[in-house]
Amino acid sequence: MSRHVNDESSSRTDDTASARDPALAVENLRTVFHTEHERIHAVDGISFEIRRGETVGLVGESGSGKSVTARSILGLIESPGEIDPSSSIRFDGEDITEYSESEYESIRGDGIAMVFQDPLSTLNPVYTVGNQIKEALSLHQGLRGAAATERAIELLEEVGIPDAARRVTEYPHQFSGGMRQRAVIAMALACAPEVLICDEPTTALDVTIQAQIIDLLLDLQAERDLSILFITHDMGVIAEVADRVNVMYAGEIVESAPVEPLFAEPKHPYTQGLLRSIPGMQTSGDRLETIEGEVPTPNEPATSCRFAPRCPKAFDECSQLAPVPTDVGDDPDHDAACLLYPAELSTDEAVTRHESAGDGGKQ
Ligand code: ADP
Ligand code: MG
Repeated sequence: MSRHVNDESSSRTDDTASARDPALAVENLRTVFHTEHERIHAVDGISFEIRRGETVGLVGESGSGKSVTARSILGLIESPGEIDPSSSIRFDGEDITEYSESEYESIRGDGIAMVFQDPLSTLNPVYTVGNQIKEALSLHQGLRGAAATERAIELLEEVGIPDAARRVTEYPHQFSGGMRQRAVIAMALACAPEVLICDEPTTALDVTIQAQIIDLLLDLQAERDLSILFITHDMGVIAEVADRVNVMYAGEIVESAPVEPLFAEPKHPYTQGLLRSIPGMQTSGDRLETIEGEVPTPNEPATSCRFAPRCPKAFDECSQLAPVPTDVGDDPDHDAACLLYPAELSTDEAVTRHESAGDGGKQ
């Protein structure tokens, strides 16, 4: 992070760093859609990494750029969309943003697999669930015939589908919503990926089934040392699954922290607002709040804080200067992009600090 206030990265190059190379490192990712009338900066310079065996959460309201982030990682951005050449996504030591389509195909599934919100977008209605898992096994593991059938049944068992030997011959419409999502997870696992991206995998499910799918993902992660990017708009779900959390707003990461400090001491007013809007999170007597307004479409470069129009703590400079990620709180991994920080400085001093770190907010 070059535009970081109080950057401590130089002091963090300790001996453990190389041993725990991240499974995936996203650096300054910018994905733009060129439409007839405007350029939509759907993902606008975000950086985060997923260490091996960890679950990183990406949370924010609808339209904040979460799915575009996932699609950017998988090389699924199509015209009129484009990943800015200054972006980098490092996987297995290579910058995959420079990959050709055929190189991407070689890591999609095998290296990085994805589970979407709607299992029916992944499952083909005209083939049995078993045949679809076997297709993945044939493509990615070279397994065919009886060995593939046996492995497909094992995978269905692994994702908690009862009577797997019979269900492997059934069609998607014969499965309930929760069972379908389990089948999709089995398909993703058939490829033995290192990184699993889950984009709102439980949003379409009722809460009981949602909890079961989350438990399943966490079990599988522990067994397989998976690295998971878990995308959701739901702070309650994030609290259960994530080791570290990135809060996204209008194409930017506005706060990032390990899950405990994020929930105990949220620093960005947006995160504070998201937490006040979870049922059961407010102190007694408080009413459940919602954040007024909606996520703006980021159709101009950030020259101000994009949350300022909705922010209860905004002051004049917030609409004149784009804040940069700043160390906040006790945990060195806790950052927020907000002119209120560093908290120990006066507002004027903090604003000056952001100005010099962010080159006046102009990019
Ligand atoms: P989220 O997943 O957080 O709800 P998305 O990543 O789907 O949000 O979208 C982020 C922004 O990118 C939105 O403003 C959306 O309208 C825009 N966007 C996404 N896909 C396209 C596209 N194909 N063309 C133009 N704009 C798009
Ligand atoms: Mg989405």
